[in-house]
Amino acid sequence: MITRREFYINGQWVAPAVARDHAVIDPSTEDACATISLGSKADTDAAVAAAKAAFPAWAATPPARRKELVAGILTQYEKRAEEMAQAIALEMGAPIDFARSDQAPCLPWHLKNFLKAFDQIEWIRPLGPHAPGAAVALEPIGVVGLITPWNWPMNQIALKAIPAMLAGCTCVLKPSEESPLNAMLFAEFCHDAGIPPGVFNLVNGDGPGVGAQLSTHPDVEMISFTGSTRAGKAISVAAAETLKRVTLELGGKGANLLFADADDRAVLRSVKRMMENSGQSCNAPSRLLVERSVYDATVAKAAEIAASIKVGPASQSGDHIGPVVNKRQWDQIQGYIQKGIDEGARLVAGGPGLPEGFNRGFYVKPTVFADVTPGMTIEREEIFGPVLSIIPFDTEEEAIRIANDTPYGLANYVQTQDSARANRLGLALKSGMVEMNGKSRGAGSFFGGVKQSGRAREGGVWGLEEFLEPKGISGWTFAAE
Ligand code: NAD
Repeated sequence: MITRREFYINGQWVAPAVARDHAVIDPSTEDACATISLGSKADTDAAVAAAKAAFPAWAATPPARRKELVAGILTQYEKRAEEMAQAIALEMGAPIDFARSDQAPCLPWHLKNFLKAFDQIEWIRPLGPHAPGAAVALEPIGVVGLITPWNWPMNQIALKAIPAMLAGCTCVLKPSEESPLNAMLFAEFCHDAGIPPGVFNLVNGDGPGVGAQLSTHPDVEMISFTGSTRAGKAISVAAAETLKRVTLELGGKGANLLFADADDRAVLRSVKRMMENSGQSCNAPSRLLVERSVYDATVAKAAEIAASIKVGPASQSGDHIGPVVNKRQWDQIQGYIQKGIDEGARLVAGGPGLPEGFNRGFYVKPTVFADVTPGMTIEREEIFGPVLSIIPFDTEEEAIRIANDTPYGLANYVQTQDSARANRLGLALKSGMVEMNGKSRGAGSFFGGVKQSGRAREGGVWGLEEFLEPKGISGWTFAAE
Protein backbone atom coordinates (compact mmCIF):
# COMPACT_ATOMS: atom_id res chain seq x y z
CA MET A 1 0.00 0.00 0.00
CA ILE A 2 1.41 3.34 -1.09
CA THR A 3 1.11 6.41 1.15
CA ARG A 4 1.66 9.77 -0.55
CA ARG A 5 -0.10 12.44 1.48
CA GLU A 6 2.14 15.40 0.54
CA PHE A 7 1.75 18.00 -2.15
CA TYR A 8 4.56 19.45 -4.25
CA ILE A 9 4.63 23.18 -3.53
CA ASN A 10 7.51 25.59 -4.09
CA GLY A 11 9.99 22.81 -4.80
CA GLN A 12 9.18 20.77 -1.70
CA TRP A 13 6.88 17.97 -0.66
CA VAL A 14 4.69 19.49 2.05
CA ALA A 15 2.01 18.06 4.33
CA PRO A 16 -1.58 19.11 3.64
CA ALA A 17 -2.88 22.02 5.72
CA VAL A 18 -5.81 19.90 6.87
CA ALA A 19 -5.74 16.10 6.90
CA ARG A 20 -8.21 14.65 4.40
CA ASP A 21 -7.28 11.15 3.34
CA HIS A 22 -8.45 9.69 0.06
CA ALA A 23 -8.13 6.06 -0.96
CA VAL A 24 -7.04 5.37 -4.53
CA ILE A 25 -8.72 2.19 -5.70
CA ASP A 26 -7.05 -0.37 -7.97
CA PRO A 27 -9.82 -1.03 -10.53
CA SER A 28 -8.42 -4.47 -11.33
CA THR A 29 -9.07 -5.73 -7.79
CA GLU A 30 -11.31 -3.10 -6.13
CA ASP A 31 -8.73 -2.92 -3.31
CA ALA A 32 -7.29 0.36 -2.07
CA CYS A 33 -3.79 0.70 -3.49
CA ALA A 34 -2.75 4.12 -2.18
CA THR A 35 -3.64 6.80 0.32
CA ILE A 36 -3.32 10.40 -0.79
CA SER A 37 -4.69 13.66 0.60
CA LEU A 38 -7.32 15.90 -0.87
CA GLY A 39 -6.19 19.49 -0.62
CA SER A 40 -8.06 22.37 0.96
CA LYS A 41 -8.17 26.07 0.18
CA ALA A 42 -5.01 26.72 2.22
CA ASP A 43 -3.07 24.22 0.08
CA THR A 44 -4.40 25.69 -3.16
CA ASP A 45 -3.57 29.21 -1.96
CA ALA A 46 -0.03 28.15 -0.99
CA ALA A 47 0.57 26.56 -4.39
CA VAL A 48 -0.83 29.57 -6.27
CA ALA A 49 1.27 31.93 -4.13
CA ALA A 50 4.40 29.90 -4.91
CA ALA A 51 3.58 29.97 -8.62
CA LYS A 52 2.90 33.69 -8.50
CA ALA A 53 6.18 34.40 -6.73
CA ALA A 54 8.13 32.26 -9.20
CA PHE A 55 6.51 33.76 -12.30
CA PRO A 56 8.58 36.96 -12.87
CA ALA A 57 11.93 35.18 -12.81
CA TRP A 58 10.72 32.20 -14.86
CA ALA A 59 9.08 34.42 -17.47
CA ALA A 60 12.31 36.42 -17.69
CA THR A 61 14.48 33.30 -18.04
CA PRO A 62 15.83 33.19 -21.60
CA PRO A 63 13.75 30.77 -23.69
CA ALA A 64 16.81 28.65 -24.48
CA ARG A 65 17.44 28.11 -20.76
CA ARG A 66 13.78 27.24 -20.12
CA LYS A 67 13.99 24.76 -22.95
CA GLU A 68 17.12 23.19 -21.50
CA LEU A 69 15.51 22.79 -18.07
CA VAL A 70 12.25 21.38 -19.42
CA ALA A 71 14.18 19.00 -21.70
CA GLY A 72 15.75 17.59 -18.53
CA ILE A 73 12.37 16.02 -17.69
CA LEU A 74 12.99 13.62 -20.56
CA THR A 75 16.19 12.36 -18.93
CA GLN A 76 14.29 11.70 -15.71
CA TYR A 77 11.52 9.88 -17.59
CA GLU A 78 14.03 7.69 -19.39
CA LYS A 79 15.45 6.59 -16.03
CA ARG A 80 12.03 5.84 -14.55
CA ALA A 81 9.72 4.93 -17.45
CA GLU A 82 8.87 1.56 -15.93
CA GLU A 83 7.74 3.19 -12.68
CA MET A 84 5.51 5.48 -14.70
CA ALA A 85 3.91 2.57 -16.56
CA GLN A 86 3.41 0.66 -13.28
CA ALA A 87 1.74 3.66 -11.61
CA ILE A 88 -0.70 4.16 -14.49
CA ALA A 89 -1.52 0.45 -14.65
CA LEU A 90 -2.18 0.28 -10.93
CA GLU A 91 -4.35 3.34 -10.50
CA MET A 92 -6.42 3.45 -13.70
CA GLY A 93 -6.30 -0.14 -14.89
CA ALA A 94 -4.42 0.12 -18.19
CA PRO A 95 -2.88 -3.31 -18.86
CA ILE A 96 0.82 -3.10 -18.14
CA ASP A 97 2.02 -3.75 -21.69
CA PHE A 98 -0.33 -1.04 -22.98
CA ALA A 99 0.78 1.28 -20.19
CA ARG A 100 4.39 0.70 -21.29
CA SER A 101 3.76 1.01 -25.02
CA ASP A 102 1.06 3.71 -25.19
CA GLN A 103 0.18 5.44 -21.93
CA ALA A 104 3.53 6.30 -20.30
CA PRO A 105 5.35 7.18 -23.57
CA CYS A 106 2.91 10.04 -24.14
CA LEU A 107 5.28 12.07 -21.97
CA PRO A 108 8.44 11.72 -24.10
CA TRP A 109 6.40 11.93 -27.32
CA HIS A 110 4.78 15.25 -26.44
CA LEU A 111 7.90 16.61 -24.80
CA LYS A 112 10.02 16.00 -27.91
CA ASN A 113 7.36 17.49 -30.17
CA PHE A 114 7.00 20.57 -27.98
CA LEU A 115 10.76 21.11 -27.94
CA LYS A 116 10.69 21.16 -31.75
CA ALA A 117 7.66 23.46 -31.88
CA PHE A 118 9.31 25.76 -29.34
CA ASP A 119 12.01 26.64 -31.88
CA GLN A 120 9.31 27.98 -34.21
CA ILE A 121 8.03 30.55 -31.72
CA GLU A 122 8.94 34.10 -32.72
CA TRP A 123 8.99 35.92 -29.40
CA ILE A 124 9.05 39.36 -31.01
CA ARG A 125 8.18 39.77 -34.66
CA PRO A 126 7.38 42.70 -36.93
CA LEU A 127 3.74 43.15 -37.85
CA GLY A 128 4.74 43.60 -41.50
CA PRO A 129 6.60 45.89 -43.90
CA HIS A 130 3.51 48.12 -44.21
CA ALA A 131 3.84 49.15 -40.51
CA PRO A 132 7.42 50.03 -39.57
CA GLY A 133 8.04 49.86 -35.83
CA ALA A 134 4.96 47.75 -35.15
CA ALA A 135 5.82 44.59 -33.25
CA VAL A 136 3.98 41.65 -31.78
CA ALA A 137 5.59 40.24 -28.64
CA LEU A 138 4.51 36.91 -27.16
CA GLU A 139 4.33 36.82 -23.39
CA PRO A 140 3.47 34.01 -20.97
CA ILE A 141 -0.01 34.48 -19.57
CA GLY A 142 0.98 34.01 -15.91
CA VAL A 143 -0.02 31.46 -13.29
CA VAL A 144 -2.02 28.63 -14.86
CA GLY A 145 -4.19 25.97 -13.24
CA LEU A 146 -4.03 22.57 -14.95
CA ILE A 147 -6.90 20.18 -14.25
CA THR A 148 -6.62 16.70 -15.76
CA PRO A 149 -8.62 13.46 -15.97
CA TRP A 150 -7.62 9.84 -15.32
CA ASN A 151 -8.13 8.14 -18.69
CA TRP A 152 -4.86 9.11 -20.43
CA PRO A 153 -3.34 10.69 -17.37
CA MET A 154 0.25 11.30 -18.47
CA ASN A 155 -0.88 12.33 -21.92
CA GLN A 156 -2.96 15.15 -20.52
CA ILE A 157 -0.39 16.28 -17.96
CA ALA A 158 2.30 16.39 -20.66
CA LEU A 159 0.02 18.32 -23.03
CA LYS A 160 -0.46 21.02 -20.40
CA ALA A 161 2.51 21.22 -18.03
CA ILE A 162 5.23 21.01 -20.69
CA PRO A 163 3.99 23.85 -22.95
CA ALA A 164 3.00 25.95 -19.92
CA MET A 165 6.54 25.78 -18.54
CA LEU A 166 8.17 26.24 -21.94
CA ALA A 167 6.03 29.32 -22.55
CA GLY A 168 7.28 30.86 -19.30
CA CYS A 169 4.14 30.26 -17.25
CA THR A 170 4.20 28.83 -13.76
CA CYS A 171 1.58 26.27 -12.89
CA VAL A 172 -0.47 24.37 -10.35
CA LEU A 173 -1.53 20.91 -11.45
CA LYS A 174 -4.57 19.22 -9.97
CA PRO A 175 -4.59 15.72 -11.41
CA SER A 176 -7.61 13.47 -11.18
CA GLU A 177 -8.07 12.07 -7.70
CA GLU A 178 -8.50 8.68 -9.42
CA SER A 179 -4.96 8.75 -10.85
CA PRO A 180 -2.65 10.89 -8.72
CA LEU A 181 0.40 8.57 -8.64
CA ASN A 182 1.64 9.20 -12.17
CA ALA A 183 1.26 12.93 -11.56
CA MET A 184 3.36 12.79 -8.40
CA LEU A 185 6.03 10.91 -10.34
CA PHE A 186 5.94 13.69 -12.93
CA ALA A 187 6.48 16.22 -10.11
CA GLU A 188 9.56 14.23 -9.08
CA PHE A 189 10.83 14.37 -12.67
CA CYS A 190 10.41 18.17 -12.65
CA HIS A 191 12.21 18.43 -9.33
CA ASP A 192 15.10 16.20 -10.38
CA ALA A 193 15.38 18.03 -13.70
CA GLY A 194 16.07 21.21 -11.74
CA ILE A 195 12.87 23.09 -12.61
CA PRO A 196 13.09 26.06 -10.18
CA PRO A 197 10.87 26.03 -7.06
CA GLY A 198 7.37 27.35 -7.66
CA VAL A 199 7.40 26.86 -11.45
CA PHE A 200 5.58 23.54 -11.23
CA ASN A 201 3.34 22.77 -8.24
CA LEU A 202 0.97 19.90 -7.59
CA VAL A 203 -2.00 19.80 -5.23
CA ASN A 204 -4.15 16.69 -5.18
CA GLY A 205 -7.84 17.18 -4.67
CA ASP A 206 -11.31 16.77 -6.03
CA GLY A 207 -13.31 18.89 -8.45
CA PRO A 208 -15.50 20.79 -5.99
CA GLY A 209 -12.44 21.42 -3.77
CA VAL A 210 -9.08 22.22 -5.37
CA GLY A 211 -10.59 22.20 -8.89
CA ALA A 212 -13.12 24.91 -8.03
CA GLN A 213 -10.58 26.84 -5.93
CA LEU A 214 -8.22 27.07 -8.90
CA SER A 215 -11.07 27.99 -11.26
CA THR A 216 -12.11 30.95 -9.12
CA HIS A 217 -8.68 32.04 -7.84
CA PRO A 218 -7.94 35.72 -8.58
CA ASP A 219 -4.22 35.02 -9.08
CA VAL A 220 -4.75 32.26 -11.63
CA GLU A 221 -4.80 33.75 -15.14
CA MET A 222 -5.82 30.63 -17.01
CA ILE A 223 -7.33 27.20 -16.51
CA SER A 224 -6.40 24.46 -18.92
CA PHE A 225 -8.91 21.68 -18.41
CA THR A 226 -9.44 18.21 -19.81
CA GLY A 227 -12.37 16.16 -18.65
CA SER A 228 -16.12 15.87 -18.94
CA THR A 229 -18.32 18.40 -20.69
CA ARG A 230 -20.22 18.73 -17.41
CA ALA A 231 -17.11 19.83 -15.48
CA GLY A 232 -15.97 22.00 -18.40
CA LYS A 233 -19.20 23.98 -18.18
CA ALA A 234 -18.90 24.30 -14.38
CA ILE A 235 -15.33 25.57 -14.73
CA SER A 236 -16.33 28.10 -17.41
CA VAL A 237 -19.02 29.49 -15.12
CA ALA A 238 -16.70 29.53 -12.09
CA ALA A 239 -13.93 31.24 -14.07
CA ALA A 240 -16.21 33.92 -15.50
CA GLU A 241 -16.01 36.12 -12.40
CA THR A 242 -12.24 36.60 -12.79
CA LEU A 243 -12.38 36.46 -16.62
CA LYS A 244 -9.56 33.95 -16.90
CA ARG A 245 -8.66 32.31 -20.13
CA VAL A 246 -10.26 28.85 -20.08
CA THR A 247 -9.23 26.17 -22.54
CA LEU A 248 -11.33 23.03 -22.61
CA GLU A 249 -10.79 19.50 -23.96
CA LEU A 250 -14.05 17.70 -23.29
CA GLY A 251 -16.06 14.66 -24.28
CA GLY A 252 -16.72 13.14 -27.67
CA LYS A 253 -18.99 10.87 -29.67
CA GLY A 254 -16.86 10.19 -32.72
CA ALA A 255 -18.41 8.89 -35.92
CA ASN A 256 -16.48 6.40 -38.04
CA LEU A 257 -17.79 6.28 -41.63
CA LEU A 258 -17.08 2.93 -43.23
CA PHE A 259 -17.78 2.69 -46.98
CA ALA A 260 -18.10 -0.41 -49.15
CA ASP A 261 -14.67 0.27 -50.65
CA ALA A 262 -12.88 0.34 -47.28
CA ASP A 263 -9.70 -1.72 -47.05
CA ASP A 264 -9.67 -5.25 -45.62
CA ARG A 265 -8.43 -4.20 -42.20
CA ALA A 266 -10.92 -1.37 -41.71
CA VAL A 267 -13.38 -3.29 -39.50
CA LEU A 268 -10.63 -4.77 -37.33
CA ARG A 269 -9.01 -1.37 -36.95
CA SER A 270 -12.32 0.30 -36.13
CA VAL A 271 -13.38 -2.18 -33.45
CA LYS A 272 -9.94 -2.35 -31.85
CA ARG A 273 -9.71 1.42 -31.77
CA MET A 274 -13.07 1.60 -30.00
CA MET A 275 -12.15 -1.00 -27.39
CA GLU A 276 -8.61 0.28 -26.74
CA ASN A 277 -8.14 1.64 -23.21
CA SER A 278 -11.47 -0.10 -22.43
CA GLY A 279 -13.28 2.55 -24.48
CA GLN A 280 -12.11 5.32 -22.15
CA SER A 281 -10.89 7.75 -24.78
CA CYS A 282 -12.59 11.03 -25.59
CA ASN A 283 -11.72 10.51 -29.27
CA ALA A 284 -13.06 6.92 -29.39
CA PRO A 285 -14.83 6.09 -32.68
CA SER A 286 -17.95 5.03 -30.81
CA ARG A 287 -20.47 5.29 -33.68
CA LEU A 288 -19.61 3.04 -36.61
CA LEU A 289 -21.66 4.21 -39.62
CA VAL A 290 -21.67 1.49 -42.28
CA GLU A 291 -22.73 1.66 -45.94
CA ARG A 292 -25.78 -0.56 -46.41
CA SER A 293 -24.25 -2.89 -49.02
CA VAL A 294 -21.58 -4.09 -46.54
CA TYR A 295 -23.66 -3.64 -43.39
CA ASP A 296 -24.53 -7.26 -42.54
CA ALA A 297 -21.02 -8.51 -43.22
CA THR A 298 -19.54 -5.68 -41.16
CA VAL A 299 -21.84 -6.33 -38.20
CA ALA A 300 -20.92 -10.03 -38.22
CA LYS A 301 -17.21 -9.26 -38.43
CA ALA A 302 -17.36 -6.57 -35.72
CA ALA A 303 -19.20 -8.97 -33.39
CA GLU A 304 -16.60 -11.65 -33.98
CA ILE A 305 -13.70 -9.27 -33.35
CA ALA A 306 -15.28 -7.90 -30.15
CA ALA A 307 -15.92 -11.44 -28.88
CA SER A 308 -12.24 -12.26 -29.44
CA ILE A 309 -10.99 -9.34 -27.33
CA LYS A 310 -9.83 -10.57 -23.95
CA VAL A 311 -10.41 -8.76 -20.68
CA GLY A 312 -8.00 -9.01 -17.77
CA PRO A 313 -6.20 -7.32 -14.89
CA ALA A 314 -3.75 -4.50 -15.48
CA SER A 315 -0.88 -6.38 -13.88
CA GLN A 316 -1.10 -9.20 -16.43
CA SER A 317 1.04 -9.05 -19.55
CA GLY A 318 -0.75 -9.31 -22.90
CA ASP A 319 -2.94 -7.42 -25.33
CA HIS A 320 -6.19 -7.72 -23.36
CA ILE A 321 -8.21 -4.70 -22.24
CA GLY A 322 -8.33 -3.81 -18.55
CA PRO A 323 -11.16 -2.81 -16.24
CA VAL A 324 -12.80 0.62 -16.39
CA VAL A 325 -11.62 3.08 -13.80
CA ASN A 326 -14.18 2.86 -11.00
CA LYS A 327 -17.56 1.64 -9.80
CA ARG A 328 -19.31 4.84 -10.88
CA GLN A 329 -18.10 4.42 -14.46
CA TRP A 330 -18.92 0.70 -14.41
CA ASP A 331 -22.47 1.39 -13.23
CA GLN A 332 -22.91 4.11 -15.81
CA ILE A 333 -21.72 1.87 -18.65
CA GLN A 334 -24.02 -0.93 -17.48
CA GLY A 335 -26.87 1.58 -17.53
CA TYR A 336 -26.08 2.50 -21.13
CA ILE A 337 -25.89 -1.15 -22.20
CA GLN A 338 -29.32 -1.76 -20.64
CA LYS A 339 -30.69 1.38 -22.33
CA GLY A 340 -29.38 0.14 -25.68
CA ILE A 341 -31.30 -3.11 -25.21
CA ASP A 342 -34.43 -1.35 -23.92
CA GLU A 343 -34.47 1.14 -26.80
CA GLY A 344 -34.35 -1.67 -29.36
CA ALA A 345 -30.74 -1.84 -30.54
CA ARG A 346 -29.59 -5.38 -31.44
CA LEU A 347 -26.92 -6.72 -29.08
CA VAL A 348 -24.44 -8.74 -31.14
CA ALA A 349 -21.48 -9.02 -28.74
CA GLY A 350 -20.90 -8.61 -25.00
CA GLY A 351 -23.77 -7.23 -22.94
CA PRO A 352 -24.56 -6.50 -19.30
CA GLY A 353 -22.68 -7.83 -16.28
CA LEU A 354 -19.14 -8.90 -15.54
CA PRO A 355 -17.30 -10.95 -18.15
CA GLU A 356 -17.17 -14.68 -17.49
CA GLY A 357 -14.66 -15.69 -14.82
CA PHE A 358 -14.76 -12.39 -12.89
CA ASN A 359 -16.50 -11.67 -9.62
CA ARG A 360 -14.63 -8.48 -8.75
CA GLY A 361 -12.86 -5.67 -10.56
CA PHE A 362 -14.58 -3.13 -12.80
CA TYR A 363 -14.52 -5.25 -15.95
CA VAL A 364 -16.89 -4.69 -18.86
CA LYS A 365 -17.55 -7.09 -21.75
CA PRO A 366 -16.51 -5.65 -25.13
CA THR A 367 -20.00 -4.86 -26.40
CA VAL A 368 -21.39 -4.22 -29.87
CA PHE A 369 -24.86 -3.02 -30.77
CA ALA A 370 -26.17 -3.19 -34.34
CA ASP A 371 -29.26 -1.49 -35.80
CA VAL A 372 -28.66 1.60 -33.69
CA THR A 373 -30.71 4.51 -34.96
CA PRO A 374 -30.03 8.23 -34.69
CA GLY A 375 -31.52 9.57 -31.48
CA MET A 376 -31.10 6.44 -29.35
CA THR A 377 -29.37 7.21 -26.06
CA ILE A 378 -26.33 5.08 -26.95
CA GLU A 379 -26.03 7.03 -30.20
CA ARG A 380 -26.22 10.44 -28.47
CA GLU A 381 -24.30 10.16 -25.23
CA GLU A 382 -20.65 9.50 -24.46
CA ILE A 383 -20.53 6.05 -22.83
CA PHE A 384 -16.81 6.01 -22.02
CA GLY A 385 -16.63 2.24 -22.01
CA PRO A 386 -16.03 -0.57 -24.54
CA VAL A 387 -19.39 -0.22 -26.27
CA LEU A 388 -19.69 0.22 -30.04
CA SER A 389 -22.87 1.34 -31.81
CA ILE A 390 -23.29 0.36 -35.47
CA ILE A 391 -25.62 2.40 -37.67
CA PRO A 392 -26.40 1.73 -41.35
CA PHE A 393 -26.48 4.45 -44.01
CA ASP A 394 -27.41 4.61 -47.70
CA THR A 395 -25.70 7.71 -49.04
CA GLU A 396 -22.68 9.83 -48.26
CA GLU A 397 -24.98 12.80 -47.51
CA GLU A 398 -26.93 10.75 -44.99
CA ALA A 399 -23.70 9.59 -43.33
CA ILE A 400 -22.48 13.18 -43.00
CA ARG A 401 -25.83 14.25 -41.55
CA ILE A 402 -25.81 11.50 -38.91
CA ALA A 403 -22.13 12.05 -38.09
CA ASN A 404 -22.60 15.79 -37.58
CA ASP A 405 -25.87 15.56 -35.67
CA THR A 406 -24.25 15.49 -32.24
CA PRO A 407 -23.44 18.13 -29.64
CA TYR A 408 -19.83 16.88 -29.73
CA GLY A 409 -17.13 17.50 -32.32
CA LEU A 410 -13.80 16.05 -31.30
CA ALA A 411 -12.63 13.39 -33.78
CA ASN A 412 -14.31 11.68 -36.72
CA TYR A 413 -13.00 8.81 -38.81
CA VAL A 414 -13.37 7.68 -42.43
CA GLN A 415 -12.68 4.29 -43.99
CA THR A 416 -12.65 4.45 -47.80
CA GLN A 417 -10.14 3.94 -50.59
CA ASP A 418 -11.67 6.72 -52.68
CA SER A 419 -9.31 9.62 -52.07
CA ALA A 420 -11.66 12.27 -53.50
CA ARG A 421 -14.38 11.14 -51.11
CA ALA A 422 -11.93 11.05 -48.22
CA ASN A 423 -10.96 14.66 -48.91
CA ARG A 424 -14.61 15.72 -49.23
CA LEU A 425 -15.41 14.14 -45.88
CA GLY A 426 -12.30 15.58 -44.28
CA LEU A 427 -13.86 18.98 -44.83
CA ALA A 428 -17.54 18.08 -44.33
CA LEU A 429 -17.26 16.43 -40.92
CA LYS A 430 -17.67 18.90 -38.05
CA SER A 431 -14.87 18.10 -35.66
CA GLY A 432 -11.45 19.33 -34.64
CA MET A 433 -9.82 16.24 -36.14
CA VAL A 434 -10.63 13.77 -38.94
CA GLU A 435 -8.65 10.56 -39.34
CA MET A 436 -8.64 8.59 -42.60
CA ASN A 437 -8.01 4.87 -42.87
CA GLY A 438 -6.17 4.58 -39.55
CA LYS A 439 -3.56 7.19 -40.43
CA SER A 440 -2.61 8.78 -37.15
CA ARG A 441 -1.92 12.47 -36.63
CA GLY A 442 1.59 13.58 -37.48
CA ALA A 443 4.18 14.66 -34.92
CA GLY A 444 3.70 18.32 -34.11
CA SER A 445 -0.01 18.37 -34.90
CA PHE A 446 -2.62 19.31 -32.32
CA PHE A 447 -5.44 17.57 -30.48
CA GLY A 448 -8.71 19.42 -30.05
CA GLY A 449 -12.37 19.74 -30.90
CA VAL A 450 -15.28 22.02 -31.66
CA LYS A 451 -18.76 22.45 -30.16
CA GLN A 452 -19.28 20.71 -26.80
CA SER A 453 -16.00 18.83 -27.14
CA GLY A 454 -14.32 22.10 -26.17
CA ARG A 455 -12.18 24.24 -28.41
CA ALA A 456 -8.68 23.81 -27.05
CA ARG A 457 -5.77 23.00 -29.38
CA GLU A 458 -3.18 20.99 -27.48
CA GLY A 459 0.15 19.99 -28.98
CA GLY A 460 2.58 21.57 -31.42
CA VAL A 461 2.86 25.31 -31.93
CA TRP A 462 -0.87 25.69 -31.22
CA GLY A 463 -0.45 24.07 -27.82
CA LEU A 464 2.33 26.50 -26.91
CA GLU A 465 0.37 29.52 -28.13
CA GLU A 466 -2.46 28.66 -25.75
CA PHE A 467 -0.18 29.69 -22.90
CA LEU A 468 1.05 32.87 -24.56
CA GLU A 469 -0.50 36.28 -25.06
CA PRO A 470 0.34 38.45 -28.04
CA LYS A 471 1.13 42.02 -27.11
CA GLY A 472 1.03 44.73 -29.81
CA ILE A 473 3.80 47.31 -29.50
CA SER A 474 4.10 50.30 -31.80
CA GLY A 475 7.33 52.24 -31.96
CA TRP A 476 9.58 49.22 -31.47
CA THR A 477 13.09 49.40 -32.88
CA PHE A 478 14.13 46.18 -34.57
CA ALA A 479 17.86 45.55 -34.75
CA ALA A 480 17.87 45.70 -38.54
CA GLU A 481 15.76 48.87 -38.81
P1 NAD B 1 -14.24 14.76 -14.91
O1 NAD B 1 -14.74 15.96 -15.61
O2 NAD B 1 -15.11 14.13 -13.91
O3 NAD B 1 -12.88 15.10 -14.15
C1 NAD B 1 -11.76 15.68 -14.82
C2 NAD B 1 -10.99 16.53 -13.84
O4 NAD B 1 -11.78 17.65 -13.46
C3 NAD B 1 -10.64 15.82 -12.54
O5 NAD B 1 -9.37 16.25 -12.13
C4 NAD B 1 -11.72 16.30 -11.59
O6 NAD B 1 -11.34 16.26 -10.25
C5 NAD B 1 -11.92 17.72 -12.06
N1 NAD B 1 -13.23 18.31 -11.82
C6 NAD B 1 -14.44 17.70 -11.79
N2 NAD B 1 -15.42 18.59 -11.55
C7 NAD B 1 -14.82 19.81 -11.44
C8 NAD B 1 -15.28 21.12 -11.18
N3 NAD B 1 -16.57 21.38 -11.00
N4 NAD B 1 -14.37 22.13 -11.13
C9 NAD B 1 -13.07 21.90 -11.32
N5 NAD B 1 -12.56 20.67 -11.55
C10 NAD B 1 -13.42 19.63 -11.63
O7 NAD B 1 -13.79 13.77 -16.06
P2 NAD B 1 -13.16 12.33 -15.90
O8 NAD B 1 -14.25 11.38 -15.56
O9 NAD B 1 -11.94 12.38 -15.04
O10 NAD B 1 -12.65 12.08 -17.40
C11 NAD B 1 -13.46 11.60 -18.38
C12 NAD B 1 -13.94 12.71 -19.29
O11 NAD B 1 -12.82 13.40 -19.84
C13 NAD B 1 -14.70 12.19 -20.49
O12 NAD B 1 -15.84 12.95 -20.72
C14 NAD B 1 -13.71 12.37 -21.64
O13 NAD B 1 -14.30 12.47 -22.89
C15 NAD B 1 -12.99 13.58 -21.23
N6 NAD B 1 -11.69 13.66 -21.89
C16 NAD B 1 -11.50 14.57 -22.88
C17 NAD B 1 -10.30 14.65 -23.54
C18 NAD B 1 -10.05 15.65 -24.63
O14 NAD B 1 -8.89 15.93 -24.90
N7 NAD B 1 -11.05 16.20 -25.26
C19 NAD B 1 -9.28 13.79 -23.19
C20 NAD B 1 -9.50 12.86 -22.20
C21 NAD B 1 -10.72 12.82 -21.54
